[in-house]
Amino acid sequence: YRGEIAEITGNPAPGDVLDVVDARGRFVGRGYWNPASQIAIRILSRDEGEAIDRDFFYRCLKTALAYRAVVVEEDTDACRLVNAEADFLPGLIVDRYGEYLVVQSLTLGIEKYKETVVDLLVELLSPAGIYERNDAGVRELEGLPLTKGVVYGACPPEVGFVEYGLSFWADIVNGQKTGFFLDQRENRRAVARYARGRRVLDCFCYAGGFAVHAAAAGAAEVVAVDISADALRWAARHAAANGVDGRCRFVEANAFDYLRSLVKAGESFDMVILDPPSFTKAKEAVPGAIRGYKEINLRALKLLKPGGYLATCSCSYHVAEDLFLAVVAAAARDARRELRLVEVRRQARDHPMLLAAPETYYLKCAIFQVF
Ligand code: SAH
Repeated sequence: YRGEIAEITGNPAPGDVLDVVDARGRFVGRGYWNPASQIAIRILSRDEGEAIDRDFFYRCLKTALAYRAVVVEEDTDACRLVNAEADFLPGLIVDRYGEYLVVQSLTLGIEKYKETVVDLLVELLSPAGIYERNDAGVRELEGLPLTKGVVYGACPPEVGFVEYGLSFWADIVNGQKTGFFLDQRENRRAVARYARGRRVLDCFCYAGGFAVHAAAAGAAEVVAVDISADALRWAARHAAANGVDGRCRFVEANAFDYLRSLVKAGESFDMVILDPPSFTKAKEAVPGAIRGYKEINLRALKLLKPGGYLATCSCSYHVAEDLFLAVVAAAARDARRELRLVEVRRQARDHPMLLAAPETYYLKCAIFQVF
């Protein structure tokens, strides 16, 4: 971090690669520098003999791909291939959707290697097209412009892919993130196994990922809610493509209000899924986020029949797992319900985490049985 750097020697330009040494001059690591960012240097290598060149990127990408070959199942052709720091390529995101790749270079330092990375991805994976989603707001913190477009081959705006044998499309041009919430992939399957025969409510459903997996796993009925009409159009299309539209109903509403109206109407469900957007991007906003989590979890618990399941998620890094579980426990006390903790899950393994960098562990997904 900027505050930890005593001195910059020489005359590096923003984005240049430089060496970090400790107070005694011993080599710590080699990384790229951006004085405009709080994270002034992002480490690429801890090996003093390793040059940051095309071969370096080739080795990192090979390693990242080899890991996905281990953790991503064969009935799935969409996943994250490169997850920035956790793949030792800070600032770089590469997502695969079938034959296509979507890349993000979120820092100035990695932006300089964008062409090299695109070249290597073509060499290693022969994709039909590569799309750049560099319209993510974090680029502004790095002094980079917001932009998107095709950087290799040709890309349709809607890219079909398969997740555990089910068909989806990613809206790679206008969808959230790179088009789909790939980080929830393993959780969608994990949650779906509790849905068989049940009446399911999926709140904050986006393109219907949890809803369609639950219905395909045998849910009797799925009601799915999102505030975005665009997202719901995709959700309906996904349900139809997988032959489960007869058991899915999609509702455009604010989930907070909708949950309240369901409770008021005396509705009940055997399973509720809560996957809201991050309620806070900053430490200062944690109290407000906690109120939000408590409210939706409390209302979900009021809707659940005894023996039903609650799958509740948080992607707020600043609300750590122990705090999140404590908030759900507080909601359970208020709702006078007993919760049995069935599973605590994280982001899918193709979004790896570094033990020494807690920032890389942001997604929590807790599954409870409710009594
Ligand atoms: N579960 C989804 C991802 C959810 S992302 C999946 O597996 O793909 C969060 C979603 O919450 C977004 O689609 C966003 O449109 C929606 N959202 C944000 N605020 C909302 C609100 N107040 N009520 C309902 N939906 C909301």
